[in-house]
Amino acid sequence: MRPPSGQRFTDIKSTLRDRNLNTVCEEANCPNLGECWSGRDGPGTATFMLMGDRCSRGCNFCDVQTGGMEALDPDEPANVAEAVAEIGLDYVVLTSVDRDDLPDQGASHFAETIREIKRRDPGILVEVLIPDFQGEPEHVRKIIDAEPDVIAHNIETVERLQWPVRDRRAGYEQSLSVLQQVTDESDIHTKTSIMLGLGEYHHEVYQTLSDLREADVDIVTFGQYLQPSRTHLDVFEYVHPDVFETWRRVAEDELDFLYCASGPMVRSSYKAGELFVDALLR
Ligand code: SF4
Ligand code: SF4
Repeated sequence: MRPPSGQRFTDIKSTLRDRNLNTVCEEANCPNLGECWSGRDGPGTATFMLMGDRCSRGCNFCDVQTGGMEALDPDEPANVAEAVAEIGLDYVVLTSVDRDDLPDQGASHFAETIREIKRRDPGILVEVLIPDFQGEPEHVRKIIDAEPDVIAHNIETVERLQWPVRDRRAGYEQSLSVLQQVTDESDIHTKTSIMLGLGEYHHEVYQTLSDLREADVDIVTFGQYLQPSRTHLDVFEYVHPDVFETWRRVAEDELDFLYCASGPMVRSSYKAGELFVDALLR
């Protein structure tokens, strides 16, 4: 992957620094940064990480630090909205750490950020990648009521591997129920991501796709699991790009997902704006 560079990259970085904001793109050293931030015709996609950089959970595939969470920054919703306007993004992805320590696990703060962005420019498309909110419907409803364009929640892996891959407080059924609630209570598009290379069998992946379709999930992405450090889960295998392409075809042609982004470097928000708009125009 080509490293990001150029004036636009420098401008975006300084806007983020000025407002003390975090993006997953930078925090995770995402290899797609150059492609996503530049976009096809200009602005492109960036993923903001809300509610701090410390998580109340500890998933065994994830590099975010566990514990030591700080109080929420009440100015964060406005700061994110200002940064989005200044950078000139046309598609924004918001995600967060899990905040099981907060009374509503941060749902109101998340919802307020969506509203601030839409208040400034109703034309901006907002995708949110939300926690499971412990499966509490009233917390999920706060996000639905803020009317983002896409609600994503990651199932991460097949049912058998949920633990050890995810924190024990997460779960297959719980994640499916979050996605099902969104489709039951709104017309908002739903999305989820699956990592490959953790030891899953093909029939298990197929079953997961079927369960997601059963819950009316619209969009699915597949990417290769990469081990962030030696203390994280081992990579079981590097999946061949042809296999990623096969899953894309199964998802789009056989199971009728709106679209599927699938490839070793694909991440949940990979070129999310371009792919979403293209799929709607198809
Ligand atoms: Fe940022 Fe997501 Fe693109 Fe990576 S894939 S650069 S995290 S928007
Ligand atoms: Fe990482 Fe999310 Fe798990 Fe927290 S809940 S450790 S941010 S994957």
